[in-house]
Amino acid sequence: MHYHLTAEQQEMAEKARKIAVEKILPIRKKYDKEGGFPWEVVEALAEAGLFKVFIPEENGGIVREGNGITNMCLVTEELSRICGGIALAYAGTGLGAFPIILFGNAEQKQKFLSPIARGEKLAAFALTEADAGSDAGAIKTTARKDGDFYYLNGTKIFITNGGEADIYTVLALTAQEKGARGASMFIVEKGTEGFEFGRKEDKMGIRGSVTKELIFNDVKVPAENLLGREGLGFIVAMRTFDTSRPGVAAQALGIAQGAIDELLKITYSHEHEGKHLLAHQGIQWKIADMYAELYAARALVYQVASLVDRGKAKEVSHLSAMAKMFASDVAMKISSQALEIVGGEAYTSEMPLEKMMRDAKITQIYEGTNQIQRNIIGGHILKEAGKLATKN
Ligand SMILES: Cc1cc2nc3c(=O)[nH]c(=O)nc-3n(C[C@H](O)[C@H](O)[C@H](O)COP(=O)(O)OP(=O)(O)OC[C@H]3O[C@@H](n4cnc5c(N)ncnc54)[C@H](O)[C@@H]3O)c2cc1C
Repeated sequence: MHYHLTAEQQEMAEKARKIAVEKILPIRKKYDKEGGFPWEVVEALAEAGLFKVFIPEENGGIVREGNGITNMCLVTEELSRICGGIALAYAGTGLGAFPIILFGNAEQKQKFLSPIARGEKLAAFALTEADAGSDAGAIKTTARKDGDFYYLNGTKIFITNGGEADIYTVLALTAQEKGARGASMFIVEKGTEGFEFGRKEDKMGIRGSVTKELIFNDVKVPAENLLGREGLGFIVAMRTFDTSRPGVAAQALGIAQGAIDELLKITYSHEHEGKHLLAHQGIQWKIADMYAELYAARALVYQVASLVDRGKAKEVSHLSAMAKMFASDVAMKISSQALEIVGGEAYTSEMPLEKMMRDAKITQIYEGTNQIQRNIIGGHILKEAGKLATKN
């Protein structure tokens, strides 16, 4: 299915596929209905060594060069093929770990990445606040320095793995008057005094993933937990997204593939006017389009992931945005059309298609909405146009 994968990468995708089928499939409906956190799946992923695939070798992982994002995408796609929600315990940990992978010093990496690689601790990334989502520069959470500590105050909302993760990368203002330029990224550990968890969201989709508020009340964070330097936080966040967005795109690919898998099974076995649904040319044509779009999305996502792995995240931020935007739009379209082709039965929870459509929606929204991705691509287009105009 994928080109240019090493034997090691094929093996990790197969391991993820096995866990998805053996561990996630039997529980996905329960988690979709009841919520909760899939620790049994996290344990299986840890045992299979799949948290190591995006962590550098010197910190207990297996990544010898680059960022391991292709590896993370492969695992995320296979898990999402069965459940895009449960897959997020894994992908959300990648998102939380990337600021440390990209900007951590040797001590920070050793201390915080090693337990993630072993799957003993999960991570989460905290930027969003009530008045700061797309406009990340509008955050209000503060970090006041006093001696060897920073004191964090504020509330983050919508945090994936909130309450379940042990390690949080948190964006806060060290210089309020400077706005985004005064933001800094901190590593905050669960259990630190004053760090509490608030409301758990009751979501439309990805219900096998936990999304919570984080509340910081004079949380005393050691100065050594600052990532990079003061004022670098916004850049840490943006580079993190440039690196991690192919991961959301891979989640979208998995959801879309899962929807096509279900659609094929159902249309092949359901009869209509004396022949099975899939024998109707009109349906074949629709599915042919879905196939083509999914293959195009996958080619884009893994091409971008491989560029990011080669350390090109900064130069390819518009491509990372394209991968996330395109794959998530494709996932939404495919999951919705798959449901429509099957008809009324697929609109009920008897079939997984309605869940897949609900799960697909979030991939268009988080890690920057697709409107924001279009803004990023638009910014790149403007620059290119400027270069062309000055040449002529
Ligand atoms: C289930 C879930 C999990 C999440 N997990 C995390 C997490 O782990 N960590 C984290 O930090 N955040 C997380 N988020 C937050 C998520 O990243 C934000 O919801 C998202 O970035 C959008 O921000 P917002 O909801 O504040 O919408 P807003 O920024 O208020 O946007 C509202 C609408 O306006 C549009 N818009 C805004 N600005 C522009 C513009 N300049 N141009 C064009 N259109 C614009 C948006 O596209 C959107 O349609 C999560 C959210 C959800 C729902």
